[in-house]
Amino acid sequence: MSILNLFGLKRCTHERMGYNIECGYCPDCGEYVENRWYLTRCSCCGVKRVAVTKGHEIMPAEYFCKNCGESGYYIEELKKLNFIDIHFATVLKVSPQIIKENFAQTWVQNSFEKQKLLATAV
Ligand SMILES: [Zn+2]
Ligand SMILES: [Zn+2]
Repeated sequence: MSILNLFGLKRCTHERMGYNIECGYCPDCGEYVENRWYLTRCSCCGVKRVAVTKGHEIMPAEYFCKNCGESGYYIEELKKLNFIDIHFATVLKVSPQIIKENFAQTWVQNSFEKQKLLATAV
């Protein structure tokens, strides 16, 4: 574990979690992690485009579709990784707990309750 990890400045990217399992516990941080596979498709012609993960965002590796030149795309989650999709798909290592936390946060931010809470706190 690096110093950065100790102070919680850097979040574990679960690099040592294998790709060949659906879910499990990260050997570096002990968090429960799910491997989720995604691919990107052209929004115009629907052709599969090679997907890459940047941080927590999924996007096509190339800016324009090789088939029609369109830059728009949409993301498709794969229930199971097929052999034919392996070259197109990218994996996102997610912790279900973090998704829950983020969801709760967004919900609070969007709700009137928070405004009320803030008003009473001042
Ligand atoms: Zn980890
Ligand atoms: Zn296209």
